[in-house]
Amino acid sequence: MIVLERVAELRDLCDDARRDGGRVGLVPTMGFFHEGHRSLMRAAYADNDLVVVTIFVNPLQFGAGEDLDAYPRDLAGDIAAAEAEGVDVLFAPTVAEMYPEPTTTTVHVADVTDGLCGAARPTHFDGVTTVVAKLFSIVGPCRAYFGRKDAQQLAVVRRMAADLNLPVDVVGCPLVREPDGVAMSSRNAYLTEAERAAAPVLSRALRAAADAVVAGEREAAAVTNIVERTVADEPLLQLEYAEARRADDLAPLERLDGEVLVAAAAQVGEARLIDNVTLTIYGAEVEADLGVVTEKAST
Ligand code: AMP
Repeated sequence: MIVLERVAELRDLCDDARRDGGRVGLVPTMGFFHEGHRSLMRAAYADNDLVVVTIFVNPLQFGAGEDLDAYPRDLAGDIAAAEAEGVDVLFAPTVAEMYPEPTTTTVHVADVTDGLCGAARPTHFDGVTTVVAKLFSIVGPCRAYFGRKDAQQLAVVRRMAADLNLPVDVVGCPLVREPDGVAMSSRNAYLTEAERAAAPVLSRALRAAADAVVAGEREAAAVTNIVERTVADEPLLQLEYAEARRADDLAPLERLDGEVLVAAAAQVGEARLIDNVTLTIYGAEVEADLGVVTEKAST
């Protein structure tokens, strides 16, 4: 595996691979790898000839007072994990390499960024789309792999790629859970033992909401109310939102039909947890995508 810090070197490698007929797979991350990240690397490895993983804790996507300085990092561990997954190139640039000048250009996606995480983090998605647009521009035509754990981010990036005709095929991958159901996240490292023990209530609440839809509930408010009531029983979690949205464009819904995202966020001590389930509803039939449970616990 080659570890790179320079934009120009990454661009050259990707151009060379395509010139030789190779397909390029890109996995953008902020590092501190867990099974969720590794599942994206495996998906990229299965479909491509050159797998590029990027690690960049992007200051632009952190709001004032958020956890930019505290964000967990372990470059040596990440190099070992990426190497074990057959990754070809690990791109870990400095902030100065990615933003040599103060940024004057920002990529903003409207509508899909409204509400959900966009409400509490009003500058977050502009930071994400700006850095992801830069990575897409540096890497060039490729498939790019994103986790459904960050469902709004996936919808926003897809929309950006479509609106700007970017030569990137955005691939959504399953949400990976700890054995007790908690959505894997680098930020779970912030949890104390008591907070970690309380955290599964969020995924339990979403599963209860999914069960209600499978049993016939179609009112969005009734479904999100199940999440609110379940999380309210756990004093260590403060629910930030629970919402049901149309899965592709995240339009608000009153009645559930078609592909629906039920998403929630909660503050637990220093950590902000997000989680979701996707329900595909055809009349009385419901297919629930609750993600996949890994056997390799990280917390
Ligand atoms: P991050 O390093 O947290 O910015 O995440 C990098 C990529 O990994 C994003 O596409 C995330 O959606 C994805 N990811 C993070 N956690 C998970 C998870 N538990 N399951 C699946 N994908 C994940």
